[in-house]
Amino acid sequence: MVIGSGPAGLTAAIYGARADLEPLVFMGSSYGGQLMVTSEVENFPGFADPVMGPDLMERMKTQAQRLGAELVQDDVVAVSFKGYPFEVRTATGTYKALSVIVATGANPRRLNLESEMKLMGKGVSNCAVCDGFFFRGKKVAVVGGGDTAMEEATFLTKFASSVQVIHRRNELRAGAAMQKEARTNPKISFVWDTEVVRVLGDTRVQGVRVRNVKSGKESDIQLDGLFVAIGYDPNTKIFRGQLDLDAKGYVKVKNETETSVPGVFVAGDVHDFRYRQAVTAAGEGCKALMDAEKFVKEKVRTVQAVS
Ligand code: NAP
Repeated sequence: MVIGSGPAGLTAAIYGARADLEPLVFMGSSYGGQLMVTSEVENFPGFADPVMGPDLMERMKTQAQRLGAELVQDDVVAVSFKGYPFEVRTATGTYKALSVIVATGANPRRLNLESEMKLMGKGVSNCAVCDGFFFRGKKVAVVGGGDTAMEEATFLTKFASSVQVIHRRNELRAGAAMQKEARTNPKISFVWDTEVVRVLGDTRVQGVRVRNVKSGKESDIQLDGLFVAIGYDPNTKIFRGQLDLDAKGYVKVKNETETSVPGVFVAGDVHDFRYRQAVTAAGEGCKALMDAEKFVKEKVRTVQAVS
């Protein structure tokens, strides 16, 4: 059984179907993960021309279906990994699984502005590695003061003419090394004690309206792109008390794909806050499936030996 339908979950489904494991995939009520709110993807191998994020996910879904994976557009509401076989519950039924792959992803935190969502993929992005390339010679800003924000800002200087880091305090949360790299980069400047109140532009980002949190004064900054890097929330609510999670809620992983429960494997952004790429998630989906297959074969062999 696979829980999740981003690149990690669907790759696990593809490999599971090819291995004749009859994978049942709970895709969630909104399938496809973060690529569903991405526009052009230029870094997924095999696509010489850009592919739209939703189109890429549709292709993965069709491929999994064609190979025989059963895809269900249901949300998992609870799991029980304490007994065996494992149990997974949706609003309409309870299912048993010999092995489970957790690939529920993480949601980038949003500023929760209507204008941000309207211009998502049209100048607003959550991923510099994915979209930085489109901002060659342009002016961009990064919101946030953590490691991700510093990493994104530094990466963006390869392309952008200038990168402004807009942070709500006057002190960064990022570690010393990443801070230093960003602070010493001549293309990066900091806008302290400031929050974004609106993203400006109709069909493309043209700037942001910001408010100084100390003075309350509002002003506009002209920009071509806005990268929101204020953290991620891993989708692990249903696994609390069932799997070991770290302080931020990510699934703890060992030996590449193993969780704290033997037979439950993990793939993609639900544990990986470092790489967060569609291609790394897909690679992990493959690894998790191969480990799950090995686990299931071993289990079946043991049961046969006992009986
Ligand atoms: P984070 O450490 O939680 O930092 C989030 C930043 O966004 C903080 O500066 C926070 O401000 C700001 N923020 C949060 N909500 C906001 C809002 N609504 N409006 C404006 N600003 C907001 O998240 P992260 O940077 O993504 O890092 C997550 C974890 O991954 C960390 O443990 C980090 O060390 C790790 N990480 C590691 C690497 C690496 O090692 N290569 C790279 C990236 C991330 P405040 O500071 O005021 O709270």
